[in-house]
Amino acid sequence: MTDQGPTGCVVIGGGPAGMVLGLLLARAGVRVTVLEKHGDFLRDFRGDTVHPSTLTLLDELGLGEEFAKVPQRRVDRLRVQLEDRILPVGDLRHLPGDHQHIALVPQWDFLDLLAAAGRREPGFELRMNTEVTGLIRENGKVAGVRYRDRETGTSGELRAGLTVACDGRNSITRAAAGLRTREFGAPIDVWWFRLPRHAQDPSGGIGRFTTGHAAVLIDRGEYFQTAYLIRKGSDAQVRAEGVQAFRDRITGLIPWLADRVDAIESLDEVKLLDVRLNRLRRWHTDGLLCIGDAAHAMSPVGGVGINLAVQDAVATARLLATPLRRGRVRPADLARVQRRRWLPTALLQGLQRFVHKRLLSRALSGQIRTGAGVPKPIALLQRFPVLQRIPAYVVGIGPRPEHAPAFARRPTTRV
Ligand SMILES: Cc1cc2nc3c(=O)[nH]c(=O)nc-3n(C[C@H](O)[C@H](O)[C@H](O)COP(=O)(O)OP(=O)(O)OC[C@H]3O[C@@H](n4cnc5c(N)ncnc54)[C@H](O)[C@@H]3O)c2cc1C
Repeated sequence: MTDQGPTGCVVIGGGPAGMVLGLLLARAGVRVTVLEKHGDFLRDFRGDTVHPSTLTLLDELGLGEEFAKVPQRRVDRLRVQLEDRILPVGDLRHLPGDHQHIALVPQWDFLDLLAAAGRREPGFELRMNTEVTGLIRENGKVAGVRYRDRETGTSGELRAGLTVACDGRNSITRAAAGLRTREFGAPIDVWWFRLPRHAQDPSGGIGRFTTGHAAVLIDRGEYFQTAYLIRKGSDAQVRAEGVQAFRDRITGLIPWLADRVDAIESLDEVKLLDVRLNRLRRWHTDGLLCIGDAAHAMSPVGGVGINLAVQDAVATARLLATPLRRGRVRPADLARVQRRRWLPTALLQGLQRFVHKRLLSRALSGQIRTGAGVPKPIALLQRFPVLQRIPAYVVGIGPRPEHAPAFARRPTTRV
């Protein structure tokens, strides 16, 4: 089956990058189709942080009030727990702009909001349950995609002037296009599971490090979405120890969880998330651009990946709206997107690599004995609290924040 009618841009993947790009291009008057392989956004792992840079963007898009109505927790300080001490490492309360906090929102709510805003634009189409299986090439150029409808099992082709891969860190598109990655490696994988949360428990995000162990609890109201860090590749070995040994690890790390670890009935409830850190050398080929994790897979460190993917999408819409409206996107136009977004990506990945090497891999292998003292950078932040504004800015706003182009801006809509 070949779809009727031209699409200016086909976007592969309805994650943060794909949904923001689809919405902005539709507002630019470009006909855009977003293809998402799942039937909904309700997957347990989606990352939960919406940072001040993205909150500002939502205001500019006229979606700020709608977003504020989504149930959420707010975090205005970043803290790390070393042994029994909770130490502040970032203070967002002095950030410039209207938002001095990170919103913790289940990502499906954020994506649903973007999808609803997209559907209000005439040129926007979102097809769920549609998995891209390959690229169409014509005269050496990518001319669209092949897909499979996962509900009906039928296959089809969709042609477009530009294809944008937003299909995340397991992108099949970039491999199909022959684009090569630079791998930085990651010392950790993540075990991801839920634990009940009680009313008197701490709120917001809580990180806990101790010799050989680390975990992060994300407050989702009724429950904690919990990330337990394991050494890269040690999943089978830790799993073989069994569920009781795992419960003991959790209570050893965070003793106040002892009254509810039995809620983990089996290790089948514990999902392995494979952490990767890499970057494409070239983010594009004629007719195809990769952005978000498809161009640069991010580690969970700092929770910056969603916001970086959103910023990529904003820059892409701003730089490519005019060429798309003219009906001809040249390789030089695609190269401009990479030039614009390379530096913030490389800086944030550089910081993630530093934390991987200096903190996480040493802590998990027991080389840092947290009881022996506070690591130097954290001690410095305690001695001069004003310095806590720097990590807050890097995480909350980041290098080279992008703003909505004029064509995408709307006054706030009251819903
Ligand atoms: C363990 C872990 C925890 C993290 N926690 C956070 C966090 O709290 N905050 C944060 O900012 N970042 C976090 N990150 C990083 C963050 O998840 C990513 O950087 C971010 O999701 C990238 O957004 P994206 O839109 O580029 O890709 P994704 O969010 O991966 O979205 C890709 C989309 O494409 C779809 N797709 C894939 N293949 C196809 C196909 N063939 N056809 C059609 N659709 C397809 C997928 O279903 C998905 O919806 C975390 C990462 C890890 C590994």
